[in-house]
Amino acid sequence: MHKNLKYSFVVPAYNEEKNIPALYERINSLMAAYSETWELIFINDGSEDKTINVLNELAEKDKRVKYLNLSRNFGHQAALSAGLKYAEGEAVISMDCDLQDPPEIIKNMITKWEEGNHIVYARRKNFRKDNFIKKLGSKIYYRIMGKFTRIDIPKNVGDFRLVDKKVLAEINQMPEHSRYLRGMVAWTGFKHDFVDYKRPDRQKGESNYTLGKLAKLGMDGVFNFSMLPLRIGFLLGLISTISGFGLLLYQIFDVLINGVYYHLYKWLVVILFIFMGFMFMLLWIIGEYIGKIYDDVRRRPLYVISETRNFE
Ligand code: UDP
Ligand code: MG
Repeated sequence: MHKNLKYSFVVPAYNEEKNIPALYERINSLMAAYSETWELIFINDGSEDKTINVLNELAEKDKRVKYLNLSRNFGHQAALSAGLKYAEGEAVISMDCDLQDPPEIIKNMITKWEEGNHIVYARRKNFRKDNFIKKLGSKIYYRIMGKFTRIDIPKNVGDFRLVDKKVLAEINQMPEHSRYLRGMVAWTGFKHDFVDYKRPDRQKGESNYTLGKLAKLGMDGVFNFSMLPLRIGFLLGLISTISGFGLLLYQIFDVLINGVYYHLYKWLVVILFIFMGFMFMLLWIIGEYIGKIYDDVRRRPLYVISETRNFE
């Protein structure tokens, strides 16, 4: 155990052979201004390119560079969780590998940490080249999340942040399987602050966050941290009941006052269809939660490490 390790950088890497050397250089030159020790932990998340070779070379040259090699692709949140388990610094900075999280602002993050913040989020001020759907999606998403979750998950932050080892200890104890780390970090409730930055475009390679993966992360956020889906079910149920009653009253009055005769089956058919729809929606929502319970109950590990390097 490195008792006096000050800073840990945790970087999941999936097919990032082209970005790793540049990221290393920038962190290295940034940290030259600090006298304290640091480690740079990469998690190779089952890359198909030469990521592992690049890491190997780097780890050979510089012992502060460490890596975990996952046995296959487990996904960004799982890879990050693995790295966080191994980080031993007093302050732990998680960031992307593609230089979209500019290392230069880490200075400000460290300052905020030294001022007594246990969590420092890097907050994006722009979404330049992200496509329209991603932009609109994230806007709507954060609006809704803000309304319906009981904890305050900060807007426009990703997984670029600094956490104190106190916060990390809490995160590392959370056994949940479907992980939404920014929610989990916010949940701990420690004192936090923000550093704003302009998010540049990805340096090399392609974004691995397809709309599908993004949707899954978004869903994890909704289902793991809110009862919104259940409330929607309840709301729809309420609306359908009320409109059902409304129709019934209308019919009764129409019969009593206007003397019009309604075939009951007409209403029954309509109402039946409406209710069937809601039942299906409710079943889907319940299924979603059961799926998550099933995921956790199996107690399979979150990830499998096939190799570690430079950890003693
Ligand atoms: N990543 C990962 N596993 C995956 C997908 C991505 O470890 O299955 C890493 C990737 O190497 C990068 C970070 O997660 O360091 C963010 O991915 P990406 O840049 O593709 O996402 P975006 O910036 O487009 O949201
Ligand atoms: Mg990126």
